[in-house]
Amino acid sequence: MLNVSPIPAFQDNYIWLITNNNHAVVVDPGAAAPVERVLAERGLTLEAMLITHHHHDHTGGVQALLAQWPHARVYAPAAERLPAPGSIALNDGDAVSLPELGLELEVMAVPGHTLGHIAYFAASPAPRDQVPQGQPLLFCGDTLFSGGCGRLFEGTPSQMYQSLSRLAALADDTRVYCTHEYTQANLAFCRAVEPNNPELKKYLQKVAKSRQQGVPTLPSSIGLEKAVNVFLRAHLAGVRAAAQAHEGAELIENIDVFAALRRWKDDF
Ligand SMILES: [Zn+2]
Repeated sequence: MLNVSPIPAFQDNYIWLITNNNHAVVVDPGAAAPVERVLAERGLTLEAMLITHHHHDHTGGVQALLAQWPHARVYAPAAERLPAPGSIALNDGDAVSLPELGLELEVMAVPGHTLGHIAYFAASPAPRDQVPQGQPLLFCGDTLFSGGCGRLFEGTPSQMYQSLSRLAALADDTRVYCTHEYTQANLAFCRAVEPNNPELKKYLQKVAKSRQQGVPTLPSSIGLEKAVNVFLRAHLAGVRAAAQAHEGAELIENIDVFAALRRWKDDF
């Protein structure tokens, strides 16, 4: 049975572990030790590593894991420095086959946070799998967070807006596996932009409770993010008005609203 679970790393990273029976794949292993610990505890074999972008907190564990698991395949964006010799370089539209898990993933180019950033999407995890209930899966690295989006370290606001628009077009029930537990701080910003969004109020309460209990707020879903995440709501009149008021200037295009929100959040 397919299962996805978080391995916490560093301050607030999640390394997502995808398993089926004793076969394991990890997404963005920034550190090897916490992954090794879970693999050993659960008697799992590491078959592959999926990398979304080149930042060290997403790739730092690759070499040490390869030393332990020399047959594990490493998938990474073709447009960025590969994390290890022999990595399989991926471009937009490529397919990643993980037969050990019975899982097929599609590669989506989502530049913005970094220029070569990719996401991995499974439109239909095998129906026999009960967890996560056959819903589509998205591993989006540092592109989309719950209530937020990645900082624009390399790309332009236009690139990031297009990348997020592509993700927002996925099915509402797509489970979104972000790489950082930033949700609570992100939602404080969303509340500053949209203080009267009822879905946001509900979600804020739920997230506060999860954090009190030390439970991850992830995965999220595309439907939820479209309802609460201001970076997916730049086309709405209320969000535009708030961005204009903060910017002190008229914002004509959705992308200008998005860019203003990103600047606002950078200083929030
Ligand atoms: Zn990053």
